[in-house]
Amino acid sequence: MKPHVVVLGGNFAGLGAAQKIRQFCGDAARITVIDRKDYLLFVPNIPAEVFEGRDPSKTLAMGLRSTLAEDDIEFIQGEVKALDVDAKRVDFVPNERPGAAPESLTYDYVVVAVGNRLAFDKIEGFAEHGHTCTDFYYGNKMRRYLHEEYKGGPIAIGSARFHQGDGTKDIKLYGGHAFPSAEAACEGPPVETMLATATWLKEHGMGGPEKVTVFTPAALIAEDAGEQVVGNLLKIASGMGFNYVNNGKDITRITKDGVELASGQTIEAEMKIIFPDWVPHDFLKGLPISDSEGFVITDTTMRNPKYPNVFAAGDAAAITVPKLGGIGHAEGEIVAKQIAKDLGRMSAAEADKELEPVVYCIGDMGGNQAFYIRSNSWFGGPDQVLKMGHVPFLLKMQYKNLFFKTRGKMPEWGLDASKLLAEKVFAA
Ligand SMILES: Cc1cc2nc3c(=O)[nH]c(=O)nc-3n(C[C@H](O)[C@H](O)[C@H](O)COP(=O)(O)OP(=O)(O)OC[C@H]3O[C@@H](n4cnc5c(N)ncnc54)[C@H](O)[C@@H]3O)c2cc1C
Repeated sequence: MKPHVVVLGGNFAGLGAAQKIRQFCGDAARITVIDRKDYLLFVPNIPAEVFEGRDPSKTLAMGLRSTLAEDDIEFIQGEVKALDVDAKRVDFVPNERPGAAPESLTYDYVVVAVGNRLAFDKIEGFAEHGHTCTDFYYGNKMRRYLHEEYKGGPIAIGSARFHQGDGTKDIKLYGGHAFPSAEAACEGPPVETMLATATWLKEHGMGGPEKVTVFTPAALIAEDAGEQVVGNLLKIASGMGFNYVNNGKDITRITKDGVELASGQTIEAEMKIIFPDWVPHDFLKGLPISDSEGFVITDTTMRNPKYPNVFAAGDAAAITVPKLGGIGHAEGEIVAKQIAKDLGRMSAAEADKELEPVVYCIGDMGGNQAFYIRSNSWFGGPDQVLKMGHVPFLLKMQYKNLFFKTRGKMPEWGLDASKLLAEKVFAA
């Protein structure tokens, strides 16, 4: 008869939320996680594996069943089909084997952590002519092309336009700052891929930055990292010889010869590395908890204002902009504290800490180098830090190792140690 917490999605936000709920609620809750796959996909390191010529599926999958079992969390491998927030019911189809009959599950609390659809299917010509590194399939397709078929032509790298929705219009951050609006969902990956591509070209004697054009739908690429940080990055990149196209508006289509942008420009390229629009899943669209696009509306404690037993964390939440796993991880902890408060396991004073988003990004540059960004200025905070060098690279690789070793339970000191090492001890 314990309250039943159902977590939809078991990647960064879902796994993190479920583990923290167990930590803060102890035995006061029964917890179930539903995901369509039974492993965590460690997305941020896919580009590094691809450029190193390694199959990312061999190093970047962590089993969910055994991980969750350690905390007495039930796991269902199934496809969530519908969420009825009035009936407090989740409809799903078990998907270990095709042909399973639809089932449902009731909850006292639900945490929506299903991420987004990465909408490559909305980009004309992507399947035939595009590449990317957002999952194992596409990562391996790109790895094979780069290492076996690439003829040495120009490479275009960039994002489609993001459609933010109205779910953040009333949100104020960092003491009253209006919620900003983004034209790209997540531009760390294009910046990272651009730098790693140039290193790869050099290492393979095929050229360097001058072969790479990076494009953005916005006036400024990765604007959420802060104007100062991006200004410095762009200065470094143009000094190295990269080509930059801003205000592209959107991707109209991809052809054999290049990328056509909604602004009317065409970028000629042999290889097109694309990051699409991040779009909410269809079953979330039109729900009373969702915004105009289908992202789940929450306040800064990740609770839906109309349905207080509905929470969201990670990319599925309207408030998660840009779409970053680091922000989703912090949100999972906030959700867990709120549920612990409701169940009498945590005081309001301890639980009611609002989200203060930080863009925290360590991007591989190839050649054992990486960039490190820690910035909250876009949201109204005071910080904008950019570092580059070997130490950020070591931190990126160690973060992944520590994540796997601790099964996702990153120690509290992990971020502080990274900050200290990258910003103080080995500051470049
Ligand atoms: C190339 C690349 C590099 C990145 N690098 C970084 C980085 O350095 N730092 C950073 O912070 N972020 C980075 N990101 C962003 C980061 O990967 C995402 O923000 C993060 O994965 C979001 O976590 P999530 O748990 O909310 O969603 P997801 O990781 O998308 O997980 C959603 C989960 O829900 C499941 N699911 C979805 N729909 C259903 C359904 N209907 N039924 C059942 N299960 C379902 C999925 O199987 C999945 O396990 C990067 C992204 C990309 C593409």
